[in-house]
Amino acid sequence: MSAAAQWTIDSVRAALGAKKISARELTSEFYTRIERQNPALNAFLTLSPERAYSQADRIDARIARGEPLPALAGVPVAIKDVISTRGVRSTCGSRILENYIPPYDACAVERLERAGAVLLGKTNCDEFAMGSSNENSAYGPVRNPVAPDRVPGGSSGGSAAAVAASLAVAALGTDTGGSIRQPGALCGIPAMMPTYGRVSRYGLIAFASSLDRIGPLAGSVRDAAAVLGVIAGRDPNDSTSAAAPVPDYPVEMEAPLKRLGCRPVELRMPHTDYAIAAYYIIATAEASSNLARYDGVRYGLRVAGRTLRDMYKKTRGRGFGPEVKRRIMLGTYALSAGYYEAYYLKSQRVRALIARDFSEAFRQADVIVTPTSPVPAFRLGERTADPLQMYLADIYTVTGSLAGVPGISVPCGKTSEGLPVGLQICGPPFGEARILQVAHNFEKAGGADL
Ligand code: GLN
Repeated sequence: MSAAAQWTIDSVRAALGAKKISARELTSEFYTRIERQNPALNAFLTLSPERAYSQADRIDARIARGEPLPALAGVPVAIKDVISTRGVRSTCGSRILENYIPPYDACAVERLERAGAVLLGKTNCDEFAMGSSNENSAYGPVRNPVAPDRVPGGSSGGSAAAVAASLAVAALGTDTGGSIRQPGALCGIPAMMPTYGRVSRYGLIAFASSLDRIGPLAGSVRDAAAVLGVIAGRDPNDSTSAAAPVPDYPVEMEAPLKRLGCRPVELRMPHTDYAIAAYYIIATAEASSNLARYDGVRYGLRVAGRTLRDMYKKTRGRGFGPEVKRRIMLGTYALSAGYYEAYYLKSQRVRALIARDFSEAFRQADVIVTPTSPVPAFRLGERTADPLQMYLADIYTVTGSLAGVPGISVPCGKTSEGLPVGLQICGPPFGEARILQVAHNFEKAGGADL
C-alpha cells in the first residue's frame, strides 16, 4: 500500500489547509483507487461522483476564500446501502430496491455532508442487513481485502472492506446484532456501535427498529470518534434519538488510562445463553413487519400479476432473497396469534434480563471486554449451507444489541494465518467516550500488533 493510501481525517485537513492537495484532487485519487480495486472487492454498489465532486468544489472554494474548515472537510466517506441518500440509488443489497432512488438524505448523511465529508458512494451489504458474512447480498459477496478468498464479515461488509482497502477514509455502517463490529473485526479496523438512540435512525431503511443503529468504521479509533461526534445527537425526525449532550469524543478519549493492564473482575451474565434465540425472534418479528411495505405498490420492484395478490406474491417472490424470506416467515410465525406469547413476549422478557445483566455488570466494571467474533474471517461459502451456524457467529455481539449499550471493536493482533482479530469493548448507555478512551489507549499501546 502506498504512503498516500494512509489518509486520516487529520492528515486530510492538514494537507488541504497547507494546499498540498485540493479536495477535488483527493476525491479523484480515491475514485482512481476504487476503479482499480473495486472490481475484485465488490465493496461499492453505486458511486456518486457528481455529488462527491460538487461537495469537493465547495470545500475548495472555502479554502480559496480562507474560511475555517468544518470537522470533516474533504474527507472521502462511504455509506452502507441501507442508509438513504438523496438522488443516489439505495438498494439495501436487495433486488426489490434495485432501482430505488431516495428523495431525501438520512440524518447521519446530511450531518456528514454538512461537516464537509465527500460522499464517494454506497457500499455492498447483506440484503436488508441480514447476515454475518455479506454473502446474502443480491449483488454478490464482498471479498475481504486482507484475504480475498474470505468473507469481510457482515452485514456492513462493503463499508469495512472499503475502509480496510483505503477506498474511503471512513464509512457508515449499521448494527442490529453485530453488523458494524463484526466486519470491523474481520477486516482489521475499528468499528463502533453507539448507544441505541445516540444517532438518529431517520433515513435508515429499517430491519429491526428497536435494535438498528448507525455507526462509524474507520482506520483509527480517533477517526471513528470524530465521525461519531458529527452524526450523534438529537434529531426531531427520530423520536427515539436521545437529547443527551454529545461530548467532544476525540478530546475526551485522549485522557490516559492509569495502567493499560486494568484490573479484571469476574462478571456473571447468566442470560447470555439465551441471547441468540431471543435476538433471532425479536429481529425477525420486527423485520416481518418492516418489510411488509415492499408490496410492489409503494417502493421499488413491481412484477405484474393476474390479481393484486398474485402481484404481491410475484413481486416479493422475485424481489427478496432466501435469507430475507426465511426471516419474514420466522417473524410472521413468531408474531401470529397463539404463538406471540410463547415466542415474542418471552423473548422480550429475556431481553429485559440481558439488559439487567449489563447494568449489574457495569456496577462492578467500567467496561466489558470480549472477542468480537468467535472466529476470524472464514472462507467464502464455508458457512452458507447452515443458517444456524451463521447465526452463532453473533454470540458476542447480540447481547449488547439487545441491551442497547454501546460497543466498539478494535484490532487485537492476528491469527497464525495473519487474519485480524477484533476485541470488543462494551460500555454503559451513553458511555461512548469511555469505550473510545479504552480503545484508543489500547490501539496506541500497539493492540493491533499483539
Ligand atoms: N448477523 C446478525 C443478523 O443477521 C446481525 C445483522 C446486523 O447487525 N444487521 O441478524
